[in-house]
Amino acid sequence: MQPTLTVAAEDGRPVAPAAPPAEAALVLRGLTVSYGESAAVFSVDATFPAGAMSAIVGPNGAGKSTLLKAALGVVPRVSGEVTVFGTPLASARDRIAYVPQRASVDWDFPTRVRDVVEMGLYREAGLFGRLSGARARRVAQCLDRVGMADFADRQIGQLSGGQQQRVFLARALAQEAELYLLDEPFAGVDAATERAIVEVLAALRSEGRSIVAVHHDLATVRDYFDHVLLLNVRRVAEGPVATAFTAETLEAAYGGRLSTSHVGEILPAGGRA
Ligand code: ADP
Ligand code: MG
Repeated sequence: MQPTLTVAAEDGRPVAPAAPPAEAALVLRGLTVSYGESAAVFSVDATFPAGAMSAIVGPNGAGKSTLLKAALGVVPRVSGEVTVFGTPLASARDRIAYVPQRASVDWDFPTRVRDVVEMGLYREAGLFGRLSGARARRVAQCLDRVGMADFADRQIGQLSGGQQQRVFLARALAQEAELYLLDEPFAGVDAATERAIVEVLAALRSEGRSIVAVHHDLATVRDYFDHVLLLNVRRVAEGPVATAFTAETLEAAYGGRLSTSHVGEILPAGGRA
């Protein structure tokens, strides 16, 4: 299958089809990742559907970030397979955009906001290489989409946490990817930024793109996501949120770390199927 990046709108801006591909966005088969003796992710099977918003949920140290990095190929797998839109990861890397956990980025690095977003265009040198005006317009469009158009010339380190997260989302938008992998996109951001990011992700989904996000806030899983993987080194549960995100699966993933009243808040009104 041809990447949809080859399709371009009038202004040279590549567009993705409104209908998601028939193949699952991301399939993991027997994925095991280890940093040393013990496995951080052990024998995980998961199928994240195309054109949907999927969450990866689990306690601290459950291997959520590791699983995303293995899905990107930036940490090596001990064993297992990663398939992206039905093709091996190696031939699908340019269909994936990644937004790392904000805490993992060195924000003292002196870079302007527009330069961070422009990094997202690196794959499209052929399309934009000599068209610096077109590049600048694309950067401005992506910043506008996340409400950061007025910050293009600011140093990234001078922004608030929420603003930095929006800029990283703008960089991912510039990539025009089909699969967006985000690591805790709402961690440490203000409520307005959270709403803005949710809106952008919902718009991506309505364009037929696929989103897989590590998510730490159990209270919003049902509102934001279609599909969920509960992870605690191993797969605890996976499927549509309505069936996979229950009191039983939360208990299995978190053990004694969630109180009964906490689960009641997360799964109100009959959610405890
Ligand atoms: P989560 O994102 O669910 O909090 P991580 O994927 O970050 O979990 O980490 C899973 C486990 O792997 C943890 O025990 C963590 O300490 C360990 N780990 C993560 N990254 C590294 C690394 N670069 N080197 C060694 N151990 C790591
Ligand atoms: Mg993490």
